[in-house]
Amino acid sequence: MEKSGALVDRFTLDNPDRGLVTGRRLREFDLVLASANYELDLPYLVKLLDGAGVEPLAERRRKRPPIIVGGLAAMSNPEPFLAVADAAFVGDGEILLEKLTRALSLLPDEPGTLLESLGEGLYTGETHVRKVFVEDLDSSAHPVVMIRSRVVEPVYGEGFYLELSRGCRWLCRFCLEAYTMYPFRYRSLETLKALVSEGLKHVQRRRVVVYSLSPFDHPNIRDFLGYLVDSGIDFSLPSIRWDTLRLDDLDLISRSSQRTLALAPESMSPRLSCSIGKCFAPDAFGELATAALEKGFNLKLYLMVGLPSEGEEEVLETARRAKEIVSYSSKLGRKTSVSVNPLVPKPHTPLQDYPLIGEREYLGRVGILERELGRGAVAHLRWFHAYVQSLIALGDRGVGRLIALSALRGLSKRGLAELSESLGVDVGFPLRRRSRDERPWHRVEFPLDRVIDKLSL
Ligand code: SF4
Repeated sequence: MEKSGALVDRFTLDNPDRGLVTGRRLREFDLVLASANYELDLPYLVKLLDGAGVEPLAERRRKRPPIIVGGLAAMSNPEPFLAVADAAFVGDGEILLEKLTRALSLLPDEPGTLLESLGEGLYTGETHVRKVFVEDLDSSAHPVVMIRSRVVEPVYGEGFYLELSRGCRWLCRFCLEAYTMYPFRYRSLETLKALVSEGLKHVQRRRVVVYSLSPFDHPNIRDFLGYLVDSGIDFSLPSIRWDTLRLDDLDLISRSSQRTLALAPESMSPRLSCSIGKCFAPDAFGELATAALEKGFNLKLYLMVGLPSEGEEEVLETARRAKEIVSYSSKLGRKTSVSVNPLVPKPHTPLQDYPLIGEREYLGRVGILERELGRGAVAHLRWFHAYVQSLIALGDRGVGRLIALSALRGLSKRGLAELSESLGVDVGFPLRRRSRDERPWHRVEFPLDRVIDKLSL
C-alpha cells in the first residue's frame, strides 16, 4: 500500500477526548473513518462523537471532519448510518485506504470533492452502489501494529490478531457476515507465518488470536497451528464451526492455552437446523462434545430461537440434547454454558424479510431452556438489545435519526417509544414479515443478492 504521509490516530468510546497516539482532539483531524461491524455501533458512534465535541447528526454538522463509516452493519444497510455519517463505504477497507492515500491532498479544504473522488463503493444515498472487494487477500495489506484502547483489553485477550481468511463458504441463511463478506478468500501459509513473525514484535504476549470465521475451512490450518505449537507460540480460536473439527484437532488445540471451545449449533433439532443451512447431526455432535470435555475443555454452546417454523417442541428437543452435554460436563468437573440469542433478521441474507420473535414468545423459549438446563447454565441476550439491532439492521434514515437522538438521551425502551411517537417513526416493522419494497438497502448491491431470493424462507 502506498504511504500517504497522513497523521493517523484512534479514538474509542472510552477515550473520545484525546487520540491514543498523538493526544490530539478528534475535531482537529480532517477525516474520521468509523467502523460499524455491529448495529449497536451506531449509538456508540453517536456517543463517541458527542463526547469528542463533534456534532453527531450529519444534517446539523457544519464543520469538519467529514465522516465515512464502514464495516458489516454499515455497509449492509448504510441508510440509518447516514443519519450520522456523510458516506458509507460498501466494500473491503483496503480498497478505501488505497483510494484515500491518493485523495488526501484534497483535505481539509475540499471534503466534498474528496468524497466524490472515492468513486465505486462509496454510498451517499444518491445512487446505486455495488460492493467492491479485494480478490487476492494474500497480497493485500494486513495490519501488524494494532493501536488499542489503554483501558479495555481486546475482546479475546492480548496477542496478535490474525485474519487467516475472509468470508465463510457455508452461507447459513441468517448469517450477515457470510453474505456480505462473500466470496471466501484466504491467505497462504507463507504469508501467515510472515505476518505472525512481524506482528508478535508489537504485542506483549507471544499469542495469536485467529479471528476469522470457521478457521478449519482454511486448507492449511492444521499445518499452521502445528507451526505455532512448534515455535512456542500460543494461540486462540474463538470461532469454530463444529462440523469442520476432527477429533484429533482437539489434541492440537489442547496444546494452546485455550480451555473453552465455543460451538454454535444454533438449534439441536435436525429438521430446524437444516432449514437455516446449519444441519445438526446429534451423534457426531455428541461424540465431539464428549471428546472435548474428556480432553479437559469447557464448552460454550450458542443457541438461537425464533427460527422460521420453530415450535416449542424443537426448543425442547434442543434443551434435552444440551442437557445431556451439561450433565456429562458436570460429572467430569467441567463447565458447559449455554448462550441464547433471538434470530435477528439481517439485510442481504435469505432471512432478510423474516420477523424478529416477539418479547413474550422469546422469554417463553428461554424459559424452556432454563427449566431443562438450570438457570445458572443459561445466559440470554436481552430482547430489547436484539430489537434495537433489528431496527438498525432493517431501518431507514429516519430510524437512524431516532437512534442517534435516543443515544444522546440514553437508549431505553421507554425513551425510544416516546421519541418515535413524537418523530412519527414506525418502530413496529421488525416484528412483522416485510415485503421486498421495504428494504432501505435496495440501492446497495452484494454479489449474492440475485440468488438470495431463491433461498428465502
Ligand atoms: S458457519 Fe458460522 S460464519 Fe459460516 S455462514 Fe454459518 S454461521 Fe456464518
